[in-house]
Amino acid sequence: MRSLTRKRVLVTGGAGFLGSHLCERLLDAGNSVLCVDNFFTGSRDNIVHLLGNPQFEVIRHDVTFPLYVEVDQIYNLACPASPVHYQHDPVQTTKTSVLGAINMLGLAKRLKATILQASTSEIYGDPAVHPQPEEYWGNVNTIGPRSCYDEGKRCAETLFFDYNRQHGLPIKVVRIFNTYGPRMHPDDGRVVSNFVMQALRGESLTVYGSGNQTRSFCFADDLIEGFLRFMDTPPEVTGPINLGNPGEFTMLELAEHVIRLTGSSSRIVHKPLPQDDPKQRRPDITKAKNLLGWEPTIPLEDGLERTIRYFRDRFFA
Ligand code: NAD
Ligand code: UDP
Ligand code: UDP
Repeated sequence: MRSLTRKRVLVTGGAGFLGSHLCERLLDAGNSVLCVDNFFTGSRDNIVHLLGNPQFEVIRHDVTFPLYVEVDQIYNLACPASPVHYQHDPVQTTKTSVLGAINMLGLAKRLKATILQASTSEIYGDPAVHPQPEEYWGNVNTIGPRSCYDEGKRCAETLFFDYNRQHGLPIKVVRIFNTYGPRMHPDDGRVVSNFVMQALRGESLTVYGSGNQTRSFCFADDLIEGFLRFMDTPPEVTGPINLGNPGEFTMLELAEHVIRLTGSSSRIVHKPLPQDDPKQRRPDITKAKNLLGWEPTIPLEDGLERTIRYFRDRFFA
């Protein structure tokens, strides 16, 4: 049972796709929420419906700089997440992950606050083990175009576990697998937002490479439920814990689903596969099931329908 007493919760990256859903859920549960965001990929539109709530506060701030606030819990989500966005200014991406983690860990240490890190399945790189359990150390290129994100997130995990061992800081590290849903950025270049926007515009869906590479897609609401459950675990539950939907699809299958569900007459075109694009990805969620009693409840088809409805209402009404 979640505590009913009000907590002050900091969400970095709170104006982003996942952050805005998290802020909303935390407010609904009776917490007061401080959203910190530099609005690089996030937007006021994502949180505008929360601004009238007296328990919600927003600070424009870049987490690569120190932050002095008073809170009880921290969710550290600040970081561009799509390849197009994180490769736009790769040095800033690494700084956001590494300096952002140091600053938020320093803040948590001073406050003795529990801090959750939004890590990623990308720390497994192009995985040689399938599906990926948390014990797998990964297969990451240190010098490629994805490295700023992958290595930044790996270093952040290292910092989290060193603050835990060195300073006794309560940490929660979650490795998020591809997540989609309403409020995804329409131009972020991610596969779900690209396909849905292309289908709704009646344009061809751009499948990179053969389209036989796989991903596992988790609906945002399921993921946020996992975050809240993880934050409520005892201090010895540090993770890392995979959160994602084990349903695995090829990009061709995803394109076909989107075309069918939108009723679009779009076709599929093939474009070159980006460098270091992982060939397969699927979470082993045994730990999430055992430690959090969590598993996804929203199948791809339902989640895609809700996402399509959002994009249609927002951009085509
Ligand atoms: P997003 O780009 O919508 O959200 C990231 C937010 O962080 C944005 O609001 C952005 O403005 C903000 N931000 C970026 N740099 C910042 C900085 N230096 N200081 C302050 N704010 C900054 O992406 P998202 O999908 O909501 O991802 C949220 C978190 O979850 C990220 O840490 C991401 O790495 C992680 N994650 C997401 C996925 C996914 O599939 N969506 C998968 C794995 C991990
Ligand atoms: N920090 C912060 N807010 C705080 C406390 C610390 O942003 O409330 C930053 C601080 O600027 C420092 C970082 O967190 O750069 C790490 O802090 P820590 O105390 O671990 O290390 P130190 O200050 O000793 O370098
Ligand atoms: N992808 C695609 N068409 C697009 C965008 C992406 O085929 O328009 C592919 C991409 O090459 C990758 C998969 O879809 O194999 C997921 O890409 P995304 O950028 O969404 O996430 P990530 O690669 O970070 O898992």
